[in-house]
Amino acid sequence: MQNRERWAGLRRPFLTGLALGVFLLLLPLAALGGGEERPVEVLPASPTPAVGSAPGGAPSVTGELNDGKALRVLQNDGTVVTMSMADYLLGVVSAEMPASFEPEALKAQAVCARTYALWRAQAGSHAAEGADVCADSSCCQAYLSPGDAAARWGAHAAEYTAKLSAAVAGTDGQVLTYGGSLIQAVFFSSAAGATEDAAAVWGSTLPYLVSVDSPEGDEVPNYRSTVTLSAGEIKALAEEAGLGCDLSGDPAGWFSGLTRTVSGRVASLSLGGVSMTGGAARSLFSLRSAAFDVACDGGSFTFSVTGYGHGVGLSQYGANALAKDGASWREIVEHYYTGVTIQEGV
Ligand SMILES: [Zn+2]
Repeated sequence: MQNRERWAGLRRPFLTGLALGVFLLLLPLAALGGGEERPVEVLPASPTPAVGSAPGGAPSVTGELNDGKALRVLQNDGTVVTMSMADYLLGVVSAEMPASFEPEALKAQAVCARTYALWRAQAGSHAAEGADVCADSSCCQAYLSPGDAAARWGAHAAEYTAKLSAAVAGTDGQVLTYGGSLIQAVFFSSAAGATEDAAAVWGSTLPYLVSVDSPEGDEVPNYRSTVTLSAGEIKALAEEAGLGCDLSGDPAGWFSGLTRTVSGRVASLSLGGVSMTGGAARSLFSLRSAAFDVACDGGSFTFSVTGYGHGVGLSQYGANALAKDGASWREIVEHYYTGVTIQEGV
């Protein structure tokens, strides 16, 4: 799921990011397939939540499981389908995390997805459409219907359906809170050694979204990637974005002043005298993350990139690495979301 920011302070910087084409970063997701396990990232969502508001007016159904409660899901065709939270989460985990991942990583993902969905419902993001969440990966969380998931998994369909259903049921009703409120359980695909502070990416601090170590590495598909652009292509992109860069001189001097965040991602750099954030550069040059170096080779530039996604919150491949090392889903979410409380329901 990629969303707008969920807290007021992030609205302006995030919209600025949008203007620079942040959502273009999502496009590579659609192009992935076959051998590569689909990486995902989740950005904060708007609007700002009304703390303490009713949970989106979602109807409840009687059931022994917390996840038996109904959720209204706006489909991509515009219809609203009411389904149980359990069924919704199965579809989200199917879409957002490779089903081959460790069971405890899948449980951590299910808890993130449940927390996120309830957060969106509480915020009333889709109240005007009579829904709690939507199935658009560029807005809320991606959702795969059982049929679509089975088609994706082929011969593994029955095995993976059972595995992911167990991840959902095994965390029934469990959500993450901080200070008594649902957290913004953002996540992303893979980090370059550490996650990022929310403040470094979106401009506002959240105490549970701060940089922590993340153990994944070269086992991640396309963990290291490169993007090579000619000087002419750089110039065209800068002009298209209306940045006002002065790119009249020697290309070797176009990029300067690169600074890094505490996690090692690019905090800011200057292109032709115009300063931009690492996130803006990531968007402008379609890089998989802001953890990059750039080198000039005469008439072209090569960006060497590590990891994939915005870097804030839970790293999916990091969660899988922790699970392989014996961590429980509780340990995983407590690692990536600093100081949160795991509790049943809200
Ligand atoms: Zn949505």
